[in-house]
Order: sequence, then structure tokens, then C-alpha cells
Amino acid sequence: MNTPRVRWAALGGLIIGLLVSGLTAQENVPRLPPTRPGASAVAPATPSSPKPKTATASPAQVPRSTRFGATDWVEIGVAAKRLGLKVSWTLSSREAVLTDKDTRLELASDRLEAGLNGDRIFLGQAPVSRSGNLYVSKIDLERCLVPLVRPALLGAPKSVPKTIVIDPGHGGPDTGKVNGALGLFEKTFTLDTSLRLKKILEARGWKVVLTRSDDRQLKPGKQDDLQRRAQIADEVGADVFVSIHFNSVAEQVEKVSGAEVYRFTPQHQPPVTRARRRLDDEVLNPGNGNDVWNSLLAYSIQRRLLRDLKLDDRGFKHDRLAVLRLVSCPAVLIEGGFLSNTTEARRIGNATYRQQLAEAIAQGLGAYASQLQSLRSGANSSSR
Ligand SMILES: [Zn+2]
Repeated sequence: MNTPRVRWAALGGLIIGLLVSGLTAQENVPRLPPTRPGASAVAPATPSSPKPKTATASPAQVPRSTRFGATDWVEIGVAAKRLGLKVSWTLSSREAVLTDKDTRLELASDRLEAGLNGDRIFLGQAPVSRSGNLYVSKIDLERCLVPLVRPALLGAPKSVPKTIVIDPGHGGPDTGKVNGALGLFEKTFTLDTSLRLKKILEARGWKVVLTRSDDRQLKPGKQDDLQRRAQIADEVGADVFVSIHFNSVAEQVEKVSGAEVYRFTPQHQPPVTRARRRLDDEVLNPGNGNDVWNSLLAYSIQRRLLRDLKLDDRGFKHDRLAVLRLVSCPAVLIEGGFLSNTTEARRIGNATYRQQLAEAIAQGLGAYASQLQSLRSGANSSSR
């Protein structure tokens, strides 16, 4: 994607972050409870035990949490109740499946990746197994799982989205990813897909603004360029910001393919690319003002990409991406396939695919807008 993560040169930001978080420097690295190798084999692995405690929170309330290792954790039975799901244990207290008649949420200790109805969901912190029970981080519960599983709990949004800023990644001297063998440039396809998406959305009544509508860089210098893209969203009063990219890997190029959609990483969590928290994760960024909507938006789009285009599922992810950091409306970054993969690059180079991709993104945006509409009108709705 060639989109740099936020660089943290500004000491001021760290100081603000410390004030906001109230953390001391000694607390910045979470010290999770040690999980013994082979613990699952030692612990009694009866599917029905231990019995989750479920009487500590009503579904409408933010549940009680337990703090250890500088993180607030929610016991799995309490989390399930919050989500309106039932817990059934598998293997041991290290894995849990939460279900209702149309939902299956799979969580495992020490695994960032969760499964939601077969889709790959990357949490901010891996659940932990402690004293024969499984715990999920409160931030993941409230800012990721509630929006995805039970959006009706979010309450009414400020507005229903009407104005969207579409950001075709890269441009001008910044080509983005390149498939040299096929002569394909990321910047060409981000722009073309964005133009197609604009046309579809305008026909459906959206007001659409592009950060660029031809082959250009917005500002010389990558950081300034990315900042300018975010500024445009604020200037036009956007309700949604969508940055469009295509991906690439350096190794195993023919094995890696598919779509991923990124939201901005919540405060107090490490980005998906890094296992441990560090001090700059404690900074509150403008992009964090919409954590729950970012989650709902990203998942709405990811689902459509997987279902409509049959792309490999690279996951609903999060990262501290510079282009998303300063946006003050709900914002996501879409990776619409891998230019490094010959088959997928040929597909991306095909206008029919890009039209389908634009359609799928538009469908995801439509689903997101409908969800917000029903929340505003107080309808008892869910993401399904
Ligand atoms: Zn890119």
C-alpha cells in the first residue's frame, strides 16, 4: 500500500497522550499473565467447563472489566452477554465460540485473529486465558465486536452519510506498487476504481469529492501529501472517507492474494503489525473519534468484497495509517488485491474487475449508510 504509518517525532504528541491516558512510562508495555506452554493440555479440557459467569452486566450497559497488565479485560461470559450471544467452549478455556441463531464468533487466547461468521477479524489485543477463563480486551469488545455483532447498541449516529471523500491512493511521481513484468501501476488503478465508484455513488444520491481526479501528487513529500488528503475530508465536511489502494508483497508473490480493509487502530492498542504496545500507542488521534463507526464501515465493505468478488479473505484489520490518522469522519483504507500476484494483477488490470470492485465497495457503503439510518430512526437493527 506504500502508506507510511504515523511517525512519532513530536514529543508534544507523546506528552498529550500521556496526559490523556494517565499511563506512566513503566506501564507502557502490557505485562500479560504468563501462559504456560501446554497449559491447555494440563487444564481439564471439558467442553462444558468452566461455567461462564453471566450475571454481571445487562446487555445495554458497558460491562464490568478487570484490569491486569495495563489492559482492561472482560470475562468471556460477560462479553457474550453484552453481545447477546451464548458461550460454548471448545477444547479448553483457551478457545470460545459465541453464538446465536445467525452469528458465530470464534475467539482464542493468544490469537489476534478471531472468526466472525467465517470472516477473519483482527483484534487489537489477543484474548488471554487466566484462571481457567478467557478474557477479551474491553477496547476490542466495545470498539470492534459490538459494532460488528450488535451495532444496535451503538446508539444513534450524529448523521446519516451523504458526503463521501474518495481518496485514490498515490499519484504523479508516487506510483504506489508496481508490477514490472506486466507494466501495471497502483496509482492508475486506484484512480480508475475511484472514478467508477464516484459515478455509482452519485447515481445513488451521494455527494462525492475526490482527493485527486487525475495523475498527480497532492503535495510534494509523502507525509504532507497524506495529510492533505485527510484535510480535504474535513474541508468538505465529509461523512465518510475511503482511501483506495492495491497491495504487494516481496516474497511468495504467487501465494498471497485477496482483499483487506483497514480501520485506524484504537488508542491503547498496538497496530496489527506489532505484537506489543509501546508509548506512542497511547496517543489519542483525531481518527480515534470514530472508532466504532470505523469498525462498522470497514467490516461492511470487507464483507461485500469477499462475498461479491470471491476474493481471498486477508482480513478486517487495523493499523495506525497516516492517511487515516487526521480524518475526523469515519474512515477506512481498502486494499483491493495484490499487484505482486500475477493472476490478481491481471485481474486488477481488467476494467471489468475494477467495475465490480467499485460496485462491491458501493454496496458496502450502502449497507453502512442503511445501518446508520436504522440506528437514527431507532429501529431495532443488526449488521445482518
Ligand atoms: Zn497504496
